[in-house]
Amino acid sequence: MNILIKNGYVITVDPKRRMIKDGAIVIEGNKIVAIGKTDDIQKKYKAEEVIDAKNMAVLPGLINTHTHLFQVLLRSLGDDMKLFDWWPKMVGPASVHLKKEDVYWSALTGSLELLKSGCTTTMDNYYPHPVWGLTDECLKAFIKIGIRGIEAVGGTDKSEPYFPPPEVLVKNTDDIIREIVRLIKKWNGKANDRVHVWFGCGAPFANTDELVEKEHDNAEKYGVGMCDHLHETQDEVNQWKKENGGLTPIQYYYKKGIRFLGSNLVGIHCVWMDDEDLKIMAKTDTKVSHNPVSNMYLASGVCPVPKMLDMGITVSLGVDGPASNNDQDMFELMKSTALLQKVATCNPTAITAEKVLELATIDGARALRMEKEIGSIEPGKKADIILVDLKAANIAPVNRVASQLVYCAKSSNVHTVIVDGKVVIRKGSLRTMKEEEILKNVQETTDKLVERAGMTKLRERPWITKVQ
Ligand SMILES: [Zn+2]
Repeated sequence: MNILIKNGYVITVDPKRRMIKDGAIVIEGNKIVAIGKTDDIQKKYKAEEVIDAKNMAVLPGLINTHTHLFQVLLRSLGDDMKLFDWWPKMVGPASVHLKKEDVYWSALTGSLELLKSGCTTTMDNYYPHPVWGLTDECLKAFIKIGIRGIEAVGGTDKSEPYFPPPEVLVKNTDDIIREIVRLIKKWNGKANDRVHVWFGCGAPFANTDELVEKEHDNAEKYGVGMCDHLHETQDEVNQWKKENGGLTPIQYYYKKGIRFLGSNLVGIHCVWMDDEDLKIMAKTDTKVSHNPVSNMYLASGVCPVPKMLDMGITVSLGVDGPASNNDQDMFELMKSTALLQKVATCNPTAITAEKVLELATIDGARALRMEKEIGSIEPGKKADIILVDLKAANIAPVNRVASQLVYCAKSSNVHTVIVDGKVVIRKGSLRTMKEEEILKNVQETTDKLVERAGMTKLRERPWITKVQ
């Protein structure tokens, strides 16, 4: 199948960072084969399907490096709490009651929202296992809806007094590894290499050193990556320092020689970082997933992104789970990234719109070890491409497209989403499944979960204008 996209404003994010007016792209199968001016391309190529991108920006599909899609079911049930109230009081107890259908329909709903906001690749982090075998539902959902997905699977094998997970969620170390290896063997590379399975440990306070090292060793053995929540809140870093001779978790892993940090690890959040932590991240080439909306929602703090970029650390963007965001909107994420860094540093030059677009595309691809395949529009790369309609009240008139994509555009401006050469979203609507079916089912499963988990009270919270 050939697709020709023509007359668009093409933002390549290729090594030359080309911006091509009246640009065209040719897709053959799942690959980009040519890119250039529409006039030149049309003389050389014929296509079965032509997409007219007049008045549209054409850019690489956006890459989300962190979420927990099961939290779709828990949207807005945990307002006004810090992480260590929010998780043990709401997310943890609810997770005990998860069933297959919950995981499946929430993964579909979250993926639908991500796709409609221009996301073509997402890394999901699934960790609650009241019973084994729920994670498969996320991978089924990725394949069915048509998104490119990495499922980073984790688990808890440790209970801290300040992070007491429900007993059923605390697992035996080897059982966690066994489950992840099973998932790798079953799913890795399926759907034309569109889905992958990674190790997604959890966090230092939720994992023993033994689990961390076993995940690391097995990730190397199976050639996959890892992710882990690192230094999300000040309290957890302080607590760790108190218990470990003044070392932060990152310093602890590095100085104790625990096999963990490195180029195949994405550290999620990395908010409370001192200079030594940053040096270790740079030296070990450990990547970062920056989740600004979640960090604001849970009042966690501000990740020092400009410092990281100055030090050559790869930073990517994550929406984080829908219970701490509470949406999965990539455009809101990009704008929040820019604004948060500017206000936190009182410096308007802290980050540019162009750099934010890089974080959401090529740098995201680098974090996920896929920069040779996705993240930019170049011949030979996989065809993950989005079209954003610029002829809209919130964007017009067109002046400087890169800036307008970050500061003006909303997910409702996303017109077309192509993943692996297939048009998944056209004119803002999903083509692979019925949206209505997904939304109906997620409501039904959530209603049942809320009941089962005894969370009706959270749903029926009265009108509160000030938390006591
Ligand atoms: Zn997370």
